[in-house]
Amino acid sequence: MWDSSRRGGARKSMNLVLLGYPGSGKGTQAKLLSGRLSLLHVSTGDIFREAIASGSALGGEVSRYMASGALVPDELVLDVIKARLDKESGGILFDGFPRTVEQARALDAYFASRARRIDAVIFLDIDEESVVERLGARRTCPQCLKIYNLLTSPPEKEGVCGACGGRLVLREDDSPEVIRRRIGVYKAQTEPLSAYYRSAGNFFPVKGGSAPEAVAGDIAAMLKNKIAA
Ligand code: ADP
Repeated sequence: MWDSSRRGGARKSMNLVLLGYPGSGKGTQAKLLSGRLSLLHVSTGDIFREAIASGSALGGEVSRYMASGALVPDELVLDVIKARLDKESGGILFDGFPRTVEQARALDAYFASRARRIDAVIFLDIDEESVVERLGARRTCPQCLKIYNLLTSPPEKEGVCGACGGRLVLREDDSPEVIRRRIGVYKAQTEPLSAYYRSAGNFFPVKGGSAPEAVAGDIAAMLKNKIAA
């Protein structure tokens, strides 16, 4: 079902975007898909969290936006993305970017100037109630970035990452108050991207409410039908 070969020609240059509410499963699916399709996983959220953890100037700039649930300004996000993409020629899987119509336009222009394009925008469709439940139960490993859910995929040993032994944490922006703010920000600034990509003809909704492997299977089937056909 999956082509995990780096020599896989067409697959190698495929560019995908994962879109959906915070907590819709973008990070989890991105990790599964990028491994199986040999795509570079680019998560702006992870880039920013790493910058904060390392104490860099970028981290200093973005931390206040993230902690409050606001978006990092477009200009800053685009600088970070361009610096990241300039070194890459293979296929990319974007997770958490673009998040505004302005970011989407900038990405289209960037790809067009390099004779590349977005092959599919995968929209993880999930209702708002599930988002609140999932984010409150989410625990993350700050060391290896593995994601757990206390209700659906808890760690074997409480509070400890099964992959690297790191101590699991509740992300600062997964507190109830900040979750509400992020949902509001999503509706106002990110939801318009669905219409943007739908009119571009590369928008593919997938049900995001089931278990991670089931969602990954649906995405694989969709890509096979719509893209690789
Ligand atoms: P989630 O999708 O669960 O909200 P992310 O890890 O993708 O989590 O993002 C966490 C935070 O990082 C966002 O709330 C925002 O402050 C910032 N961020 C991440 N990506 C972007 C982006 N493309 N544009 C602006 N801000 C971003």
